[in-house]
Amino acid sequence: MTHTHTDHDYEQVIGEKLNDAQLRTNLRSAMDTLIHKRKDLLKERYPEWEQLRTMGQNAKLKVLSKLDSFVQQFEENATKNGFVVHYASTARDANEIIYNLAKERGVERILKGKSMASEEIGLNQYMKEKGIVAKETDLGELIIQLIDEHPVHIVVPAIHKNRHQVGKIFQEKLGAPLESEPEKLNGIARKHMRGEFEGFKMGISGVNFAIANEGAIWLVENEGNGRMTTTACDIHVAICGIEKMVESFEDASILNNLLCPSAVGVQITCYQNIITGPRQEGELDGPKEAHIILLDHNRSNILADEKYYRALSCIRCGTCLNHCPVYDKIGGHAYLATYPGPIGVVITPQLFGLDNYAHIANLCSLCGRCGEVCPVKIPLPELIRDLRAEKTHEGRGVVRGYKDTKHSKLEELGMKAFAKIASNGTLWRAVMALSGTFAPLGKLFGHYTPVLQKWLRYREMPKVQGNLHAKIKNLPGVIYE
Ligand code: SF4
Repeated sequence: MTHTHTDHDYEQVIGEKLNDAQLRTNLRSAMDTLIHKRKDLLKERYPEWEQLRTMGQNAKLKVLSKLDSFVQQFEENATKNGFVVHYASTARDANEIIYNLAKERGVERILKGKSMASEEIGLNQYMKEKGIVAKETDLGELIIQLIDEHPVHIVVPAIHKNRHQVGKIFQEKLGAPLESEPEKLNGIARKHMRGEFEGFKMGISGVNFAIANEGAIWLVENEGNGRMTTTACDIHVAICGIEKMVESFEDASILNNLLCPSAVGVQITCYQNIITGPRQEGELDGPKEAHIILLDHNRSNILADEKYYRALSCIRCGTCLNHCPVYDKIGGHAYLATYPGPIGVVITPQLFGLDNYAHIANLCSLCGRCGEVCPVKIPLPELIRDLRAEKTHEGRGVVRGYKDTKHSKLEELGMKAFAKIASNGTLWRAVMALSGTFAPLGKLFGHYTPVLQKWLRYREMPKVQGNLHAKIKNLPGVIYE
């Protein structure tokens, strides 16, 4: 839900995260594992990954070019299949629809599969205020619910906790014996969850792909909790951002082939649930009622923009987070937003207003890695640069709340000065030579200098190669202009 976050809020939380050595170790180790699993898999099994990326990009852009008609087609086909389709233009609308469904059916506890859309609308908090318990069933979500936290990552919500910390949480919150072996921890969670599944009437899930020409939804998961949530309860409610539309199963298969390797470094996840409606006569399981909430929540505004609409191609694989040199130092909570990492930087101000999240655009080093790894080729670095222009009022003024964003004069002047220097070779070389000469002084006096002071709080003074040009000029094979 919307909160205004000031530069000071960010400075404080980022400072805390950077000083948390355990968090940084956990993140580093988790990100390395995810990065290497993906890299090895692509090398071994996906010689045509680039072509697949292009196919995925085209599948998403095709839908975005006519999203309204695909949404309409989906609604018609889903209704024929027996789904009840609801439209929610705001987060509040979505919460109210779910609450009313629960209230009318006398439901007091709802079971939840993993869904970032439900995080986006603040479903758990809303239900709590209305006296309804929302119980998480995904292992990562369960862990963070036990300690009253939000997901730190869009795919792996508790990746900031190592197995020893998880064992302690289970001991303290579930009264389980202290364990740290993954199998034993899984056993504790399974036993706990199996008990929880009994007696629940309503299950909430997210959606990975909504198939327009079939009116079906596709849910990807690894634990089986998604299947339990969508089949074991009498009522299933799926929250689906309208950008999850795809034309056909063929397109969904292409995107699924991109999603699984990118998200967790596997060719396919353990559970792939294709849901075509409620339980039919003669069938032994499945919900008696199936509802789909098509969530807009400012997505139509993003779609209307000539550049930002590309962000709606996102399949929420999370690989841009894993490869981000900012995310891997501070983790997701430091973004103070539902969606962290590069995709979070792009969509958070669009969904919740730039005036509420201006500082988030600074959480990027513009290294470009996110754009290189994104399976659907979203030009994330370009969009982040655009957003920074919006933030300093130099952009197109299309992001909600840009007018009320307090931009820093110092930042604006600094960027103008940098642009002048960087676009003039002679000036650039002169400044670099001067920096090379004076940089060693930074080591001695930096901690007493206003701007450098902040920079050096978490970093070492970089070595500035003032004479780099002179060095490379005479290297064999270098054409120096
Ligand atoms: S922007 Fe691309 S890399 Fe990032 S989560 Fe979305 S699909 Fe994955």
